[in-house]
Amino acid sequence: MTFTLHGIGISGGFAIGRAQLYSHDRLEAPHYVLRPEDLDAEVARFDAAIEEVRSECEQLREHIPEGAPSELAAFLDLHRLILQDTMLSQVPKDLMRATVCNAEWALAQQTEALLAQFDSIEDAYLRERRQDIKQVADKVLKALLGHPGQAPVRLAEEPTVLVAHDLSPSDMVLFKRSTYAGFITDLGGATSHSAILARSLNLPSVMALHNARTLIQEGDLIIVDGNAGVVIVDPDAAILEEYRLRQNEWRLEQQKLKRLKSSPSATLDGVAVELLANIDQPEDVREAVQENAAGIGLFRSEFLFMNRADLPSEDEQFEAYRKVVKAMKGKPVVIRTLDIGADKSAAWLHAESVNPALGLRAIRLSLAEPPLFLTQARAILRAGRLGPVRLLIPMLASLAELDQVLELLDAARASLDRDGQPYGKDILVGGMIEVPAAALAAEWFARKLDFLSIGTNDLIQYTLAIDRTDDTVAHLYDPLHPAVIQLIARTLKVGQRLGRPVSVCGEMAGDPRLTRLLLGLGLRSFSMHPAHLMAVKQQVMHSHVTSLVPLAARLARAGRPERVQACLARINA
Ligand code: PEP
Ligand code: MG
Repeated sequence: MTFTLHGIGISGGFAIGRAQLYSHDRLEAPHYVLRPEDLDAEVARFDAAIEEVRSECEQLREHIPEGAPSELAAFLDLHRLILQDTMLSQVPKDLMRATVCNAEWALAQQTEALLAQFDSIEDAYLRERRQDIKQVADKVLKALLGHPGQAPVRLAEEPTVLVAHDLSPSDMVLFKRSTYAGFITDLGGATSHSAILARSLNLPSVMALHNARTLIQEGDLIIVDGNAGVVIVDPDAAILEEYRLRQNEWRLEQQKLKRLKSSPSATLDGVAVELLANIDQPEDVREAVQENAAGIGLFRSEFLFMNRADLPSEDEQFEAYRKVVKAMKGKPVVIRTLDIGADKSAAWLHAESVNPALGLRAIRLSLAEPPLFLTQARAILRAGRLGPVRLLIPMLASLAELDQVLELLDAARASLDRDGQPYGKDILVGGMIEVPAAALAAEWFARKLDFLSIGTNDLIQYTLAIDRTDDTVAHLYDPLHPAVIQLIARTLKVGQRLGRPVSVCGEMAGDPRLTRLLLGLGLRSFSMHPAHLMAVKQQVMHSHVTSLVPLAARLARAGRPERVQACLARINA
C-alpha cells in the first residue's frame, strides 16, 4: 500500500530504491513481512529461541560455581520466570500471526511495550525489574539473530536507500564510503551535523520523519524527494514514472550547473563574490578543487578526532592540514580548531553534559584542556608555512575566552620557536560568530581578530533557543527570523566599518534561495559544501547588488513571517 511521509528535505534531488533498515545496536531487530506460508516456521523459530535461552539459564543454574554470589541463583530463576511468562513467550507469536511479521520484530515490539509499562511504575523495586526483562528479551533476540529466518527477497543490483532512526555525525562519516542512493532518518534537524554531512554526501535525503524506521520495512520500494522533504513508500506505477522523470530532469539540471565552473563569480553590476568550500576531512578537498572553490572557508577539524579511541598527534594533524593546503595551491585555507561536543562526540571524550549544546563544547573544551589546544595550534601554525592558512576559533562567547586563546597561540608559537620548528608567522586569526552574545559584541571581537565567520547554524540555534538536532522543534528553526537577520546584518556592518572580512560558513551560505538576500545585506564571502557552489554561483551571476540592498533592508525590517516571505519572493524574483 502506498503511503507518504513528510520530513525536512536535507539534500536535494530524488532517490528511488529499496529500503535498507539501519540499526546502531546490532541487537536491534530487522523488520520484514513474511509470506503467509512461512508463518508456522517463523513461530517455530521463535519457540526454539525461547527454548535455547531457557536451557542456557538451566545449565547455568545447575553449574553455579562455588563462591558465586548467592543472588546469582535467584537472578537466574527470575530470568527463567520472565521467559515463561506469556507476555514474552506468547504475545510476540500472536503479533506475528496478526501482522505476518518476522519473529525479531514481533519480539522487539512487545519488549518495547513492556518496558514502556515499567517506566510508568512508581515502585522502585518493580521499576528495576525493567532491566531484567530487557536482558532476557535481548538474549532471545540474540538467539533469533543467530538462526536467521527467511530473509526478504531483494535484488542486489537495485539501488538502496538507508532508513535509520538516527544517524550520528560519526556514523555519517563512515557512510561516506558507502554506495547508498539516498537516506532518511526519523530524527535530526536541518542543520544538525548529521544533516550537514548528509549534504556533503550529496545524496537525496530527508530527516525528521519521526517514525519512518518503524513504518518502512526492509526491501520496501521508496522514493526520496530531498527537495520537498517527502518520502513515498511503495509507490504505484504512475507515481514511480513521474518521479523517474523528475529525477532525470534534476540530473540534467546538475549537469548544466557544472558549466559555470570556470565563470567568474561576480554579480551583474560587477561585484566580486568569494565562494569558498566547507570540508570535514582532508579527502573532501578533491571536490572543492573540482568545483573550483576560491579556497577552504571552513575545515571542520573535529572530524580528525572522531571515530577513534585516541587523539590525533601533532604530526598526524599537521599531515592532514598539509594535504589540504597543498591541494589548494595557494588559495586560502581556514582551519577551525576543534569544535567537538554537543552532537559531535568522540570515544575519547568522557565529559558528560546536562545540556551538551550549552556545555563544554568547541573553544570551551579546548580552553579547558590546554594541551589539546596547544597540540592543534602547533599543527596549524606549522601548516601555515606551506600556504595561506587561517585559524578560526569556534563558538566564542566572551572576550576573556578570546584573550585566553590569543595567549595560548603565543605560547604555541614560543614552543615552536624553542623547538626550532618552522611555522607560518603571519597566520590570520578569526572568530566564529555563532552565539548571539558574540554577534551583539562583534565590534569588540573584530578589534582583536583579523576576520569573522558567521556560523549561522549555531547562531540560529542559540538565538531562537531551538536545538538544531531536535526533530520535534525542527519546524521552528527559522533562518529568516528577524532576530537572526538582524544579528547577521549587524555583524556584516561591523566588519565593513572596521575593515575586517566577514564570511558566512553556516548552511545559509549554501542555500541558493538565500544568496541574494545575503548579498543585499552586504555579504561578499560565502562558504558552503562544494556541492552547492555552482547553484550559489548561478544566483550571484544573476544578481544586481545595488538593487538588492534596499530589498534586503526591507526584509530585515519586515517582522511578520508572511511579510518576510513576500520580501524574499521579491528579492528572488
Ligand atoms: C555553524 O554553526 O554555522 C557552523 C558553520 O559550525 P557547525 O555547523 O560545525 O557547528
Ligand atoms: Mg557551529
